[in-house]
Amino acid sequence: MSKSNSLNGSSSSGIRYGPEMRILIVGGGIAGLTLCALLEQRGFSPTVVERAHKYGNVGYVIVLWPSGSKILKGIGLYEDLKKVGCDFGDYKICDYKGNSIHTYTIDPVVEKYGPVISVYRPDLMNVLSKGVRKDSVRMNTALKSLEETDDDITAYFSDGTSGTYDLVVGCDGIYSKTRSEALGKAEISYSGMAGYAFWSSPEFSEINGITEYWGTGKFVKIWPTHNRLAVFVSVRTKPDISNTPEEKIKNIQEYLSDFGGVVPDIIRNLDDPYGIYYTEYNDLKISRWSSGRVVLVGDSAHAILPNAGGGTSMAMESASVLTEELCRTDSKYFPQAIRQYEARRKRRVDKVLNHSRFIGKFFLTDSGPLSLTRNYIMKIYSSRQIFRYWDGILSDAL
Ligand SMILES: Cc1cc2nc3c(=O)[nH]c(=O)nc-3n(C[C@H](O)[C@H](O)[C@H](O)COP(=O)(O)OP(=O)(O)OC[C@H]3O[C@@H](n4cnc5c(N)ncnc54)[C@H](O)[C@@H]3O)c2cc1C
Repeated sequence: MSKSNSLNGSSSSGIRYGPEMRILIVGGGIAGLTLCALLEQRGFSPTVVERAHKYGNVGYVIVLWPSGSKILKGIGLYEDLKKVGCDFGDYKICDYKGNSIHTYTIDPVVEKYGPVISVYRPDLMNVLSKGVRKDSVRMNTALKSLEETDDDITAYFSDGTSGTYDLVVGCDGIYSKTRSEALGKAEISYSGMAGYAFWSSPEFSEINGITEYWGTGKFVKIWPTHNRLAVFVSVRTKPDISNTPEEKIKNIQEYLSDFGGVVPDIIRNLDDPYGIYYTEYNDLKISRWSSGRVVLVGDSAHAILPNAGGGTSMAMESASVLTEELCRTDSKYFPQAIRQYEARRKRRVDKVLNHSRFIGKFFLTDSGPLSLTRNYIMKIYSSRQIFRYWDGILSDAL
């Protein structure tokens, strides 16, 4: 990002308050649309630029903890979420052969805080889209660069246009252009784990909820949605392994050749290599989420491993906290509001991020003896104990 100094250091058009503040949101994903909906509800008129030319059917299932889903209550979209989402249900763990280790119920969390909801990501995007004005999101428009002065910040876009704002909020995901423009290169950490995701037939569902098969350094999660199963195969692996569409099926077959239960049936039915999505599990922990007139929200600031399912709820919470802070600031004194936002969010997000790293190491250990110990611990662990961590997060102040 280039920076130039103005002569007088004050805004030529005066200080802009709340609704008058010119806010650009880069990225119309989960964090961007949540932030836009919350700000519009409070009378702001943010502009969202989204790189994709349309929201497609990309993505699988996302889990929304009550701290995330209740934000939709405030926007008036909770009933819409309930129509497309599923209750989390039970959580069954088996060993890799399919022998049951334990079936947990999430009821202790639900009783205290409300439903934990699984939702197909494109369905959640549709719900969030209803909360923003039609003309707020400029599709097919990517941020290219930023230029900041003492008074404002100008954003340059892929379609050749530009705009000048009081604040730019980067909601553009783990590989954020906003972040690299404002804060430079950030270290994205590879966890040593990667995963395949694909859809399968609902007939392989064993319970009303999630079933997991735990092996050594590999793990299968079977997650029912309305009329099909999302299947996630997570493995310990080196980065950058070859995974052409044809190799994907072969790799999955090899990884899971000794698995039992419904896993062999699921693999036998796996015939569309182009429907299998492969991704390395990366996360991002950075010490600063802001610089000058730029602030980050969601994965651009705190990308969390998918192991514990907290990333989307944390992104929505961050959008909600930033909204509160922006409601009591202006175009001149906003740095204090941004400091408040970071102070309110960092400790909590770091806790979830660290937990997701621990869960990854524990669930996906590649040591045989540790796998056996893990399975034994899970046998004697109660539902209350396994969800104690989320109880702590959900009872904490935002
Ligand atoms: C297409 C897609 C599918 C996903 N599927 C799943 C899933 O199945 N399960 C799961 O747990 N998580 C999934 N995720 C990740 C999940 O949405 C996020 O981890 C989490 O919800 C935090 O959301 P976010 O808004 O911070 O980031 P994201 O949801 O990643 O949204 C970032 C948005 O920014 C846009 N963008 C990026 N660069 C620019 C730019 N330069 N200019 C303008 N816009 C830009 C992207 O197109 C995207 O819409 C998916 C993300 C995407 C983008």
